[in-house]
Amino acid sequence: MVEGILIIISGPSGVGKGTVCQKLLQLNKSLRLSVSTTTRPPRPGEEDGVEYHFTTASQFKEMIENAYFLEWAVVHDHYYGTRRDAVKKILASGQDIILEIDIQGAEQVKKQIPEAISVFLAPPSMKALEERIIGRGTEDPDRIADRMVTARREMKAYDLYDYIVVNDLVEDAAALIGSIIDAEKCKVSRGARPSGGGGDSK
Ligand code: 5GP
Repeated sequence: MVEGILIIISGPSGVGKGTVCQKLLQLNKSLRLSVSTTTRPPRPGEEDGVEYHFTTASQFKEMIENAYFLEWAVVHDHYYGTRRDAVKKILASGQDIILEIDIQGAEQVKKQIPEAISVFLAPPSMKALEERIIGRGTEDPDRIADRMVTARREMKAYDLYDYIVVNDLVEDAAALIGSIIDAEKCKVSRGARPSGGGGDSK
């Protein structure tokens, strides 16, 4: 069986990664989304095991020591990580999986799994990004300033990625990422073959 494709989606906080990923999952029912583990407290409406697996810093550190994570990073003072076993299991079953992670995590995954596709989701402008973070209403002013500092730094890392997609309209951004995944699936180097086997007679 051909292994599934691992798709990394990164981009500055507030760019709309979550919304674009949800749209992508609606458009492509065979895609799976990796549920990260974090020490960040749940936001109103977030459920353990759905948006994140919520845990304590001491448990997270123990998981790091036990090589539990494919990648992990500290983002805005909290730990975030992707469970290695969960990702491997989905890929081995032939399903594709999206990792919605930050830039530090994206670099770690690309080093270990070079065939992963990485997509940098960019805002139409920095002003639009700030407006989205303020509009979300989940951060206090200090946190918003913090996130904008991180965002400006993260924007400079776009050239570490395979693809850049601008999130102006969620539907368009999700459809574009869907097309990228479709095109990757047609790659011979990923195991695509003509029906009937091919290769015997030229
Ligand atoms: P939030 O707290 O707003 O849900 O996420 C904050 C940041 O952490 C976002 O940039 C998000 O992509 C990133 N993030 C979420 N899960 C992971 C993860 O498992 N690993 C890494 N490296 N970053 C993550």
